Amino acid sequence: MRDRWNDDEADGMSPLELLAYGSRLIGEEPSLVLWGGGNTSLKVDEADHMGRTIPVLRVKGSGSDLKYAQVRDFAGVRLGDIRWLLGREAMTDEEMVDYIAHCTMEPQGPRPSIETLLHGFLAPRAIVHSHADAILTLVDTPDPARLVKEIYGDRLAQVAYLRPGFAMAKVAYEEVERAPEGIEGLVLLHHGLVTWGDTMEEAYHRHIALVTLAEEAIARAARPRARARAAPELRRNRFLVRLAPFLKGALSRRDPHVLMFDGDEAVVDFLARPDAREITQRSVATPDHILHTKGVPLWLDVADDLSDAALGEAVRHAVDEYEAAYAAYVERYNHGRYEPLSPEPRVILVPGLGYFAAGRTLAAARVPLDIYRHTMGIIAGAQELGGYHPIAEPEAFEVEYWPLELYKLTLRPRPKELAGKVALVTGAGSGIGRACALALAQAGAVVAAADLSPQGAAQTAAAIEELHGMGTALGVTMDVGDKVQVDAGVDAAVARFGGIDIVVSNAGIAPTGAIVDLTPAQWEESFRINTTGHFLVSQATLRVMRRQGTGGAFVFVVTKNALVPGKEFGAYSCAKSAEAQLARIIAIEHGGDGIRANMVNPDAVWTGLWSEEVRRERASAYHIAVDELEDFYRRRSLLQRVVLAEDVAESVLFLCTERSSKTTGAILPVDAGIREAFPR
Ligand code: ZN
Repeated sequence: MRDRWNDDEADGMSPLELLAYGSRLIGEEPSLVLWGGGNTSLKVDEADHMGRTIPVLRVKGSGSDLKYAQVRDFAGVRLGDIRWLLGREAMTDEEMVDYIAHCTMEPQGPRPSIETLLHGFLAPRAIVHSHADAILTLVDTPDPARLVKEIYGDRLAQVAYLRPGFAMAKVAYEEVERAPEGIEGLVLLHHGLVTWGDTMEEAYHRHIALVTLAEEAIARAARPRARARAAPELRRNRFLVRLAPFLKGALSRRDPHVLMFDGDEAVVDFLARPDAREITQRSVATPDHILHTKGVPLWLDVADDLSDAALGEAVRHAVDEYEAAYAAYVERYNHGRYEPLSPEPRVILVPGLGYFAAGRTLAAARVPLDIYRHTMGIIAGAQELGGYHPIAEPEAFEVEYWPLELYKLTLRPRPKELAGKVALVTGAGSGIGRACALALAQAGAVVAAADLSPQGAAQTAAAIEELHGMGTALGVTMDVGDKVQVDAGVDAAVARFGGIDIVVSNAGIAPTGAIVDLTPAQWEESFRINTTGHFLVSQATLRVMRRQGTGGAFVFVVTKNALVPGKEFGAYSCAKSAEAQLARIIAIEHGGDGIRANMVNPDAVWTGLWSEEVRRERASAYHIAVDELEDFYRRRSLLQRVVLAEDVAESVLFLCTERSSKTTGAILPVDAGIREAFPR
């Protein structure tokens, strides 16, 4: 493992800044810690609230991530108060949390790590604790003590597995007291590594050096394995796109979930091992992971040549069995103490294909996806060292339902209204489509932003990712009048997010000209985009929604002209009327599937919508100057207001959410009030 300490970067930093710097180096290395795992500390002298200089332990706050560590993220606790506890024999978790709360330097500061006592009891000034993959590979084996002794001799003490807390900290302290002079750290069996030093720099260097020794031992034990014979990529991709919606649906029966997928070579090879099914059902590599991945993944062995009906049945059956097994596991150990967590799997392994991770949000799905990727490497390595042998099921339960771990969950923001939903918006590169895509993302949906213009699609997706996080949007290039492009775009969205729940069918063109002047090509192009485009998008996404079996919402962006046509707008108005009829037919044909189809009728939306040419044509049709157009449209509305793309997006959003769950086949005008265009 590369030692990333950089003297130039570290130059001139205070001890606490070095603590934060070293912590970031640990956090930035995913094979050391993932998603909030691990913790670090430094013992310093500080002035207390009365101005007396006292020894203080600065330790990572609970639930914060080392990757982003800043000095303010380290909670201060009075070291004397912590060390006084060494005289105690036992302490419950509640007593411990209450006690530590009384020791904090800043009453409003971050809550100290659940491993605070471990950091406080150990004497060295700087302490680094990680869940390094290589260390877990050693300590999740049948005889980890022997392996650790072989590799590290007297450099590291060892502590048998105990759940973090008072007892574990006390045992660790006693082990270190008994250990020979000069040890550099200790191994927590089935859990991770602790190193220390006089400075953060020393503790960091030792950490990397000791992990590297483990990596070298693992590399020596590794034997070459035959590559798996996987199906061709095209065939796997087709299966992924067919399977994912069934899975998304089965996992969304309580709350909507999005999926993330990884099916690269190493994953497919791992899942092809003859022992893969058995070894993946043996709990987590370190206790900290269980909150994110649950104890075991779902093993979903389904053939890619099953019919849709059989595939759906197989997926639902597998998820049902997993949930029943989870409920039985809770029953075995809970004894009525805690409210059971939601039973659906977080990680789903599909041999021959790859693996999925599920979450209420994309960010929540990414965590188990990343963790399990590392878990596969740990399991494979441990198998070479005598067998993967992590903590046992009763211990796993005590961690999963440990109130101090569950506390971390309460730090997460509440899921937004459209959390877990996947939206496809066509014509999302500009105007109404872009406004809708941004509004849906703001409400918590992940968004496939489709547009004829690759740049337009990419820009909207980038704007969403900027606001809501990496991977929350996907730019898709799509000519909605081209079936091949529509199918490919819908497949890309499904492969990325697991399915589609919401469709804003918005892409359109606005050709002008009197009937007597229109060429057949102009007429047909309007129908290709403004009618057939909506049909193709609907058909492709309806198939996905039916596989999911969790309903769906379509919103068709139509136009006031569908009800009140204007002259010299025939090719447009006729095609848009057909779009409105399509929306009604979908409402009729798919009401039984819980799929709603509604329309918005905007009028004269100005922001970036009409080309200069259209503006000239419209002005001439009404015998006014181009610069009088806005005023003309504003005055003819009852409310005498200009309609913006954001106004349309607000109505679209309403029709996409459960707030309109009893409404289908309806038209919502967004035209500032046009008497002739009242739907009737
Ligand atoms: Zn830990």
